[in-house]
Amino acid sequence: MLRLVLLGPPGAGKGTHAQVLSKRWNVPHISTGDMLRQALRAETKLGLEAKTHMEKGGLVPDEVVIGIVGDRLKENDAKQGFVLDGFPRTKEQAESLDALLQGQRMPLDLAVYFKTSLSVIIRRLSGRRICSQCGKTYHLSNFKSKVEGICDDCRGPLMQRPDDRQDAIENRLEVYQKQTSPLIEYYKKKNILEEVSGDLEVPELSASLKELFLRKKLVGC
Ligand code: AMP
Repeated sequence: MLRLVLLGPPGAGKGTHAQVLSKRWNVPHISTGDMLRQALRAETKLGLEAKTHMEKGGLVPDEVVIGIVGDRLKENDAKQGFVLDGFPRTKEQAESLDALLQGQRMPLDLAVYFKTSLSVIIRRLSGRRICSQCGKTYHLSNFKSKVEGICDDCRGPLMQRPDDRQDAIENRLEVYQKQTSPLIEYYKKKNILEEVSGDLEVPELSASLKELFLRKKLVGC
């Protein structure tokens, strides 16, 4: 059982490690960014509503994301725990999450802050490519697909996320600074904040997380 929130700027590696942790703990990886991108690809009402906010690097309105996370957490697999990635991003989202989890008597175990330097963020985001069909993530130098520009899993064409372009990156970092970084203090006050270095490469950061869970006596790590 693990109820975890991953906090940190875009490009900190939250998505990558959320995937690893979700497999290791056998709990769902809940990424609001992935859910919104999926809705965008399927051209649902939610996707169309989110599109302009996402492409500019702004936030999708709180009530929309709170709604989709609330529905997702009601699903059976989330009763065994979850790894939340990219949610909460505002104080209002964090408070709604607390209220929701309190109602179900399943408080968060930890909020892990991936502290990451600007140069690393820019390098990761500008080299990131995703599959336009299935959403799998690659990187031009760190995690290349076997055939250039083609997804290893579904053979879909790779693309740059519109919000990984320079002007959108700047906007996302500003939004992060203003709206999301105060959550570090929010979870510190609740005594559940732990920090790791998002600058580390995947194996080193994985080891660091493993050590953290052992220290916190969270089993299954
Ligand atoms: P991500 O993949 O987490 O970087 O999210 C991509 C984009 O989806 C963000 O830049 C936002 O536009 C939107 N988004 C994802 N999660 C949230 C959230 N919790 N609140 C508002 N917007 C979000």
